[in-house]
Amino acid sequence: MDLSFTPEHAAFRLEVRHWIEANFPQAIRDKQATGEHLNKEEIVSWHKILHAKGWLTPSWPKAYGGNDWDVVQRYIFSEELARANTSQPTFGLGMIGPVLYTFGSPEQKETLLKPTIAGDIWWCQGYSEPGAGSDLAGLSTRAERFTAEDGKEYYRVNGQKTWTTQGHFADWGFFLVRTDQNAKKQEGITFLLIDMKTPGISVRPIITMDGGHEVNDTFLDNVIVPVENRIGEENKGWTVAKYLLGHERTGIAGVARSKRGIERLREVAAGVLADDGQPLIKDPDFRRKIVDLEIDLAALEYTELRTLAGESSGKGPGPEASMLKVKGTEVGQRLTELTLEAAGHYGEPYFRGFPREGDNVQAISPDFAFKAAPAYFNMRKTSIFGGSNEIQRNIMAKAVLGL
Ligand SMILES: Cc1cc2nc3c(=O)[nH]c(=O)nc-3n(C[C@H](O)[C@H](O)[C@H](O)COP(=O)(O)OP(=O)(O)OC[C@H]3O[C@@H](n4cnc5c(N)ncnc54)[C@H](O)[C@@H]3O)c2cc1C
Repeated sequence: MDLSFTPEHAAFRLEVRHWIEANFPQAIRDKQATGEHLNKEEIVSWHKILHAKGWLTPSWPKAYGGNDWDVVQRYIFSEELARANTSQPTFGLGMIGPVLYTFGSPEQKETLLKPTIAGDIWWCQGYSEPGAGSDLAGLSTRAERFTAEDGKEYYRVNGQKTWTTQGHFADWGFFLVRTDQNAKKQEGITFLLIDMKTPGISVRPIITMDGGHEVNDTFLDNVIVPVENRIGEENKGWTVAKYLLGHERTGIAGVARSKRGIERLREVAAGVLADDGQPLIKDPDFRRKIVDLEIDLAALEYTELRTLAGESSGKGPGPEASMLKVKGTEVGQRLTELTLEAAGHYGEPYFRGFPREGDNVQAISPDFAFKAAPAYFNMRKTSIFGGSNEIQRNIMAKAVLGL
């Protein structure tokens, strides 16, 4: 397929850009610009605006809200969303939605998929455990099936999940649980949807190095789950889990986000002075670092376009997904390293709980510098989640090099 941008694509880009400018709420825009964490209501409000426009899930089948855009239009759209620094899709759209329309029962589609699309159900992902991350199939959260007095069948779930992103916001979670203790690891796993208000679930915050609350420990203590909440067959959850992880990995490269980040870094470097009193952007060493990053990002972009072209001719992303994940996260991390370098000593006075109420941040440091250290710390996560970069390299070694 042809991936050059036609005049129609250029017009489409402008249409999307103008629409986002007119509709992305200013309050969220301001928070995003200073790197503040958005709350649930803010993320949901943007979700609902996109939904009302019919632009929420362009790549989904039409019956579930997809549209007629070609691959290039979808690419342009995601670029424009990132360019405007809009909030990112939630677990509902990026992960469980495709699982629900692919594997879900008609009842699950009606009661869970529809409200997810409407922005009324917020999801979290319960895969990882303290003893099962990279070795996910080693998970030990247990689900025992029983018939209750009402004659219906349920699972009783016990165990601990960890790193549950946005679990404190979630209405529902999708969980991997062990239903057969004796089968081979991958064959004894079941995929369950659990209402997070069910008695026995507790969510405990994990505060990360940047001082933020994104992730949690989730404890399940005799949690009773109806058998109808299972996706697919009992003990066949690994197939569903792998399908979902494919969706997680492809979205993680963040090319458009990094492009915007480099634009911002250039602005920042033009506004701060190096030791010689000249703007940092004129420093040859710093400029070389930016240019190196731009070259890597351009290579990444073309790899992503090639992958998209392959997908549009029916070739699913194979090891390219791992390549995109590794390079994309490395570029994103180097970007935050350079921003921190540009902040210089202004990046230092970061500590948890700062600023306090009443602190005049602008008087202490340039606004970009204030968030440089938290952003640097926060980005460390990207080479760990979605399958760590070491694991992605193992996948590439096997699939590409045949090792
Ligand atoms: C911010 C954040 C958010 C997350 N959100 C979620 C979430 O919402 N839901 C969820 O279920 N999980 C989530 N995770 C968990 C994430 O998927 C795991 O952290 C990840 O899979 C790695 O597992 P682990 O932390 O147990 O590390 P381990 O698997 O213990 O790995 C430790 C180190 O050893 C390396 N390693 C392990 N095995 C190999 C190997 N075979 N070859 C080479 N190197 C290896 C790893 O790369 C890593 O560097 C999140 C993690 C983070 C950091």
